[in-house]
Amino acid sequence: VSRGLGDVYKRQMLEIRNLSKSYGKKVALNNINLKFDNGLYGLLGPNGAGKSTLMNIITDNLKADNGEILWNGIDYQTLGVKYREILGYMPQQQGLYNGFTGKRFLNYIAVLKDIPKKEILLQIEESAKKVNLQNELDKKINMYSGGMKQRLLIASCILGNPKLIIFDEPTAGLDPKERVRVKKLMQEFSSKSIVIIATHIVPDIENIAKEIVILKEGVLIEKNTPEKLIEKYAPNGDLEDVYMNIFENKEENSFEKNN
Ligand code: ADP
Ligand code: MG
Repeated sequence: VSRGLGDVYKRQMLEIRNLSKSYGKKVALNNINLKFDNGLYGLLGPNGAGKSTLMNIITDNLKADNGEILWNGIDYQTLGVKYREILGYMPQQQGLYNGFTGKRFLNYIAVLKDIPKKEILLQIEESAKKVNLQNELDKKINMYSGGMKQRLLIASCILGNPKLIIFDEPTAGLDPKERVRVKKLMQEFSSKSIVIIATHIVPDIENIAKEIVILKEGVLIEKNTPEKLIEKYAPNGDLEDVYMNIFENKEENSFEKNN
């Protein structure tokens, strides 16, 4: 890719202001304010917390009711196709073309991303290498294991060296070894980009996230370092205990109230 060193090390900024979204009467996001710069963030919350809604809005696949998304201070709506170019998104549910080879799929995505024709082959090779699929690219996707399919999706996500990378439940369906591998990859990407991983599985982001954003029923509960969260919610425990204390206790309280 034709990018100078200066650009590689430039810090990026994503800012979310007063973001709200409802589906009918269901409030999925309630006035969210967040700032992200280079590094890896975990977006943590149980199913239904609003994670995918937030990721879909950030990636401009869903319209918010209220609020703004700013990329380096500029409203993403005014950036248009430029915003698409800095974005890498791996949605929670995604179909793969089983009849395609891995290479054909990556080529298809590269064309969608408007990557210049003469760069596509090199980009495909680089991305595939990062997820260790370089020797599997000529196989059809229906011959891939679950882990290989997930890695192919990650490769498609990082095509074009995006500055903002969003993974929604990236380890779904992976075995423990594959999980560790995917985790390491994400950590690598975060040295040059903003990486946001939405998950309800604490170990997915443990020890790699510089900050953790906690969503509960559409409300932003916390955005802090793992150390600060442990200090506040589970002084003698770990991040898993933080999660348990935030979510299980609340459920018990509402259980008591309702009974
Ligand atoms: P998460 O990704 O954290 O599991 P979601 O963003 O998918 O959360 O969902 C947040 C809330 O919004 C849930 O209560 C969910 O049922 C609701 N929701 C999500 N998508 C839709 C939709 N298309 N129509 C109606 N309700 C939705
Ligand atoms: Mg989700």
